Amino acid sequence: DPILRLSGIEKVYKRGKPGEVQVLRGASLSIARGEVVALVAPSGAGKSTLLHIAGLLDQPDAGTVEIGGEAMQDRSDRRRTAVRRADVGFVYQFHHLLPEFTALENIVLPQLANGASRAEAEARAKGLLDSVGLSDRADHRPAALSGGEQQRVAFCRAMANAPRLLLADEPTGNLDPETSERVFAVLLDLVRDTGLSAVIATHNLELAARMDRRVRLEAGKLHPV
Ligand code: ADP
Ligand code: ADP
Repeated sequence: DPILRLSGIEKVYKRGKPGEVQVLRGASLSIARGEVVALVAPSGAGKSTLLHIAGLLDQPDAGTVEIGGEAMQDRSDRRRTAVRRADVGFVYQFHHLLPEFTALENIVLPQLANGASRAEAEARAKGLLDSVGLSDRADHRPAALSGGEQQRVAFCRAMANAPRLLLADEPTGNLDPETSERVFAVLLDLVRDTGLSAVIATHNLELAARMDRRVRLEAGKLHPV
């Protein structure tokens, strides 16, 4: 089974109201295990909507979402939450780290929520920070970190529970071009080293070219590039 299979996904916002918009019109996508796929689309095309549906944060109006061969649309909220926590990692354009906690704690907390012991969680968090070159920033709060460092911590948090699938929405989109290149390379290394499957949305065609395959979201459907 592919790690992710989206089939015929449809999504309408504000159905029957002023401002109704059909964002997805039968979007289909299959991601093999270990595959890293770039999602390319103009702003407003529905990238975030698609990634939220793929990551079980939102429900489609029609179509099916399978994660690791498990059809998710008929599952209970409880099961969907468990799969999201254990199997899916998210990275956004903005880091969304908890400001009152250190870098280390931001990576420890999701593991505790997923049932890990504190000792296990800290060991794993330290290993992840080391792998993105931030061992010496473990005890800093997000406000004391640069934009690129904050995003690298967010990558570690996304990897905290050893997900099978990473979903990233313009993960370096708010960094300057040079930092973006560097931090993006860190993310790709981390994904490759762990053999993770990933869908990474980016506007940057050079970054997209470094991935295994590219798909374009246009008029509510996905097309190979
Ligand atoms: P992208 O991530 O590609 O910029 P989004 O998935 O965020 O696109 O949004 C796609 C379209 O759906 C946009 O036109 C946006 O304004 C609209 N949209 C997104 N979320 C909502 C919502 N909760 N209610 C109404 N419209 C929305
Ligand atoms: P965008 O505006 O393109 O959606 P943002 O960087 O503003 O990107 O991300 C905010 C998104 O994070 C919201 O759309 C929301 O659905 C999502 N979100 C909120 N809480 C969580 C959470 N606990 N885990 C994952 N995603 C979340």
